[in-house]
Amino acid sequence: MTQTPAHRLIDGHLDLALGALEGRDPALSLDELRRLPLFTGVPGEAPQTPSVTFGELQAAGLGLCFGTLFARKGGAWPYTPGGYTDTEGARQEALRSLDWYHRWQDAGLIRLLPNRTALMAHLNDWEAGADLPLGVALLMEGADPVRGADDLPFWAEQGVRLIGPAWRGTRYAGGTGEPGGLTEAGHALLQAMADLNLTLDASHLDDAAFWDALPYGTRVIATHSNARHFIDSNRLLSDDMIRAIGERGGVVGVVPANFFIRAGWRTGQERVPLQELSEHARHIAGLIGWERVALGSDFDGGFGTEQLPAGLERYPDLHQLAQTLPAEHRAGFLWDNWARWLREHY
Ligand SMILES: [Zn+2]
Repeated sequence: MTQTPAHRLIDGHLDLALGALEGRDPALSLDELRRLPLFTGVPGEAPQTPSVTFGELQAAGLGLCFGTLFARKGGAWPYTPGGYTDTEGARQEALRSLDWYHRWQDAGLIRLLPNRTALMAHLNDWEAGADLPLGVALLMEGADPVRGADDLPFWAEQGVRLIGPAWRGTRYAGGTGEPGGLTEAGHALLQAMADLNLTLDASHLDDAAFWDALPYGTRVIATHSNARHFIDSNRLLSDDMIRAIGERGGVVGVVPANFFIRAGWRTGQERVPLQELSEHARHIAGLIGWERVALGSDFDGGFGTEQLPAGLERYPDLHQLAQTLPAEHRAGFLWDNWARWLREHY
């Protein structure tokens, strides 16, 4: 299979192992996947239809993604009944996630990219049109599985290259809906990340934690975050945060989830037009340039097609999103911007 520039894609955020942990192995076909129980989603809202399978990703020309190790914290929504209640529980879940990635690699479905050498070879091979499995750069989303700063070398050895310390709040940092700075353990974690040359994913970090983290000098990106200019929530990036990421050479991946595109959107309402997400991309580009705006789909990250913009029914439909952007910036959005960042900083 030859990858033409018009049909290739890098995705800043996919919760591949989370789907598998929840019983939706992306190695299934889309028909099989959609016959399984749907996402339960927000209590009282309609169930959600998944769309991520390796076949669909391949059909979209997806060459590389940041694939998460995401441990589910125990509790009522937005937490998970039966999820982890302590550090060891979180750690075990992240290890189970890691296990899925190894299983898929052994089956020839993905290629893990644990270091710069592997990354460069994968990008070069892919751009040369080689027939390759999906490259996966491991991203830990929510750092609770890390026992402490002295446990970070273990995760780096497992191939984790990026860490988002928060999801909601964690032992390390204030996060979505749970404001706060870095904790004492969070400060130690950031120092260890800097020492190990790991990248900070600012998505989900509360403002206070974000500004606490920057002086450690880690590289910083946002794998899946839209602009707070349109929705007043700490899950989205303020203009100052976007500028800070841009000043440090980072990239922001915009996320096609209706509730992160339009304020007050709820499941069951008419799905928002794709054009509305492009407004987030344009706003971010206006602050830091089009070469720093890319995709972070987060497809199946706890929500399904019902919560995607109109026209996105299957993963390959993401190419339509690029059609809402200025023609000269489409290739950058789909591939070149993440590829450039990866080549410079991975
Ligand atoms: Zn997330």
